[in-house]
Amino acid sequence: MRKTYTTLLLVFLLAGGLASAAFAGPRPAPARAHAAVAQASTAPAIDWRNVDQEALEKFTAYLRVNTTNPPGNEVRGVDFYKKIFEAEGIPYETGESAPGRGNIVARLKGQGNGPALILLNHMDVVPVDQRFWTVPAFEGLVKDGYVWARGSEDMKSIGIAELMAVLLLHRNHVPLKRDVIFLATADEEAGGNFGAGWVQKNRPDWYRGAGFLLNEGGESYADASGKPVFFGIDTIEKTPAWLHLTVTGRSGHGSIPIPDSATNRLIAALDRLRQWQPPLELTPPMERGFVSLAPYVAEPWRSRLEHMDQFIREPNARAELAKEHPGWLALLTNTVSITQLEGSKKVNVIGPEATASLDCRLLPGTEIDSWVNQIRKVLDDPSIKIDVILNFPTSHSPDDSALVETIRQVVKSQYPDTGVIYTPLEAFTDSHLFRERGIASYGFSPFAVSGGDARRIHGNDERIPVQSFESGVQLMYQVVYEFSRQ
Ligand SMILES: [Zn+2]
Repeated sequence: MRKTYTTLLLVFLLAGGLASAAFAGPRPAPARAHAAVAQASTAPAIDWRNVDQEALEKFTAYLRVNTTNPPGNEVRGVDFYKKIFEAEGIPYETGESAPGRGNIVARLKGQGNGPALILLNHMDVVPVDQRFWTVPAFEGLVKDGYVWARGSEDMKSIGIAELMAVLLLHRNHVPLKRDVIFLATADEEAGGNFGAGWVQKNRPDWYRGAGFLLNEGGESYADASGKPVFFGIDTIEKTPAWLHLTVTGRSGHGSIPIPDSATNRLIAALDRLRQWQPPLELTPPMERGFVSLAPYVAEPWRSRLEHMDQFIREPNARAELAKEHPGWLALLTNTVSITQLEGSKKVNVIGPEATASLDCRLLPGTEIDSWVNQIRKVLDDPSIKIDVILNFPTSHSPDDSALVETIRQVVKSQYPDTGVIYTPLEAFTDSHLFRERGIASYGFSPFAVSGGDARRIHGNDERIPVQSFESGVQLMYQVVYEFSRQ
């Protein structure tokens, strides 16, 4: 999963105002006061200093578990969680979808007043090229106020925050009105077939009675001082249209060029595709996201976000978006990235076949068939075979629900001048698998990070500020605590 809203905001925030006013010292004490007040009546007294230490220890230990996908080895993550549940006396189940591809679930029983809440996290991480990192990628190093490691943002931090919420509810015997289900899965980075997809097909009992879900996907932003500016909720994501192109043609010896060889025809068609710019269009969910973000952005972008329908009609809109906000541009158009290319296996052989893969991302409302037809028209070579590798329909969770309201309330109680906005996602997560089954699923990151740190996801030197991590663990607990008691 990648991030849009936070990446380039650093420059465009209201200079100084939000940043300097409230923030004082390494961790905003007032939040704790707010939290303490909110919990005063029935809530268990929690020693957050102890919890912080425990959470950080578990987090850095989990980051040392290498679950790079491919191949995944998520059973290592299952072993990590299993040991903890056993030590706590929390019953759990595991399921291996293929050798080494593990999944684990643990359910805290409630009084069944309401649909259960799933806390979903994937255990796999994307590969690393260690040559381009300044720190070891799998040691969970704590340095300069940060935790550095692959998965520190995407999404082992959220996994640990969900885990700590479950442990604290369990240890403090908090009476729950609804079940809370901790579900850690494999394979999200490759589409989820060995993870959430496998659970859907083989163990739907693991999330029986669920009506709500929290997952990665929301984007939360902190200013340069580390103070949260807004927490984002992802209620909808663009959908993938991963396409495979195949061209066949005459083959021969490389010393005698074939002008209309499979490779040449594919290159010519891809060049037409490369130059094509699908139209800009503002869809309602994206509009809602932009409007909710506008108050946190300085002019001229504030007005543009408020009136995106007008702005996208301006002749320079695409160029300005591409230059300053490529992530926002991705939310305003269907996109095509030519990612894989292959011709002959031998340099001196003109091969009979050439192939390419396209990573296309579709806006809500764009159907796969009409999209493939558009691509076919642009390629303008009827001999090119187009196969759809991955696609699924858009699914949208309600923008307003009891869980969204709970997040708003808790954020307000902990960070009075921090916003809660909608951050539709240009990428996709496993949430769609649950949305498609009517489970209200929300991407929500309790960790507010700077634009610079957000840009490290799937990149080099991925890291998360210790301060954001500790505050986020508490925020996640508060949200789960409040919602599980409704
Ligand atoms: Zn992820």
